[in-house]
Amino acid sequence: MTFTVWRRHNRDVCDSTNRYDPRCGCPLHVQFVWKGAPGVFEGKKLTYQNKWSLETRSWSEAQSKVKDLEKRLKDFAEGKVVPKGMTVEAAVQEWYEFRDQNELDNTKAKLMGGKLVEWCEKNNILLLTAFTTDKVIKWRLTLPFRSGDSSSLSVHWSVISGFFSWAAVMGYMEKSPIPNPKTNSQFRIRYKKAEVKSPTKKQVEKILATTTGQVRLLCQLMRETAMALVDAIKYGMSQEDAEKYGMSKPERRPVIQDRVIRGNRTKTNERYRVRISESLAKQLEALGEPAFPGTYTQWRERVNKVIKDAGVKTTPHGFRHYRITEWLSAAVHVDDVADMVGTSSKEIRKTYRHWIKEAEDRLDEVQREAWLKMGLDENGDPKKQQVQ
Ligand SMILES: [Zn+2]
Repeated sequence: MTFTVWRRHNRDVCDSTNRYDPRCGCPLHVQFVWKGAPGVFEGKKLTYQNKWSLETRSWSEAQSKVKDLEKRLKDFAEGKVVPKGMTVEAAVQEWYEFRDQNELDNTKAKLMGGKLVEWCEKNNILLLTAFTTDKVIKWRLTLPFRSGDSSSLSVHWSVISGFFSWAAVMGYMEKSPIPNPKTNSQFRIRYKKAEVKSPTKKQVEKILATTTGQVRLLCQLMRETAMALVDAIKYGMSQEDAEKYGMSKPERRPVIQDRVIRGNRTKTNERYRVRISESLAKQLEALGEPAFPGTYTQWRERVNKVIKDAGVKTTPHGFRHYRITEWLSAAVHVDDVADMVGTSSKEIRKTYRHWIKEAEDRLDEVQREAWLKMGLDENGDPKKQQVQ
């Protein structure tokens, strides 16, 4: 067998083009062809072409690990080792790698994968194939997410459903143990939409003060226009660029003319039309086209980092919420806000009911009339005695 040791460069920190870079310190992997029957070896899937992590960054350690591996594989080929199924832990690790390679964000995946592995350890479940529907539901009951008033459990659950579907497709288990909510509706996770929490003016300013350059301009663009991140990063992008950076729905990118931005929202295809300030338009222009080259994941991570560095608890979507609440508090009509941000008036009324000026005014009027009926003055105080 021939084993090739090579480095998988971490593109965030390394720009080496040499797969055999002696020094860069990126993780080392081994590649080899397996001519025996496909199967599972030490919890890993063994196929014709194999690329495995050596879990080291040192060449000398990699060499000795490969020597060991060769010996164990030989034993395995000669039937000296009893083959075992894929362990939950090994499968979860491989799933992270798969997601990484496909530029999927691993934050929720790692949170859920960690909880899954932990629970399996406690309950003596080693192999993935031991995971049956009853176990999956028992595990779900231990998760710390409330299902009553937030979508959190639902979101995290769909991440882990993705893991089991992946494992089934990879052949590590017969089928996903997660019950299909379409055919088993009692397993559906129900929740009420939580009222939107917008960051405060102070928090928004703190975030903007924490950053400079492109990230700052991207945040400012979202803050001025209430555009979602996925739409804002398409600012000034050609169809070709949008495709190059793997944007979803490149045809929905915004068109900019005389400081007016028009586009269709990536998420819903609803039209929006919003005007930006002259100073911001000039700064964006200075960035060239596209203003924000890169993938959605990259920009989301950059903005999230700035928010974290500023010590504020919000998401990139917080800018959109903030701008919408600002407009509504300034008594901009709900229908106009809806047109600017590309959503229905109904949705705005529902989501931002506490911010709508007209509703506030009406409530104040109700209260004022109630006071008058109660024999108080319009400020809610007892009427002053008329002095003759
Ligand atoms: Zn490297």
